[in-house]
Amino acid sequence: MQLRIGNGYDIHRLVPGRPLILGGVNLEHPAGLGLDGHSDADVLVHALMDALLGALGLGDIGTHFPPEDARWRGADSLQLLERVMGLVRERGWQVINVDTVVVAERPRLKPHIATMRETIASRMGLDPQQVGVKATTNEKLGPTGREEGIASHAVALLQQP
Ligand code: MG
Repeated sequence: MQLRIGNGYDIHRLVPGRPLILGGVNLEHPAGLGLDGHSDADVLVHALMDALLGALGLGDIGTHFPPEDARWRGADSLQLLERVMGLVRERGWQVINVDTVVVAERPRLKPHIATMRETIASRMGLDPQQVGVKATTNEKLGPTGREEGIASHAVALLQQP
């Protein structure tokens, strides 16, 4: 059995007048902020896709879904995740588990974690037990701490039987 590990990181700016979508779930920011970006800016799913592509040795999401390509404008990141899972399966790999962390001061993510895990798992064809979603603040330090943005880290472990 072969194993592969990948990691991913992403950050998007918090701006007024944009939706806040994390792990495919629409959230309300107490200051009315959302994430800026070319697609729906789901920073959690972006980090996750980079972890999967890294494990496959297939580069990053910028290569697969270039921001200058109009096809990905406003793209639903969960649909992009399904495409990445297509690559995983095409190449004969299975996901053992993925784990993610979102770094955000607000809103409180705890009440939404279960829904995020279920949403991501169903789109990846996994059990929610295989999908870790954790949340932390940055203790008001740095760009995420000042609420200039929200960041996310992810790892993915794949096997080829
Ligand atoms: Mg991104």
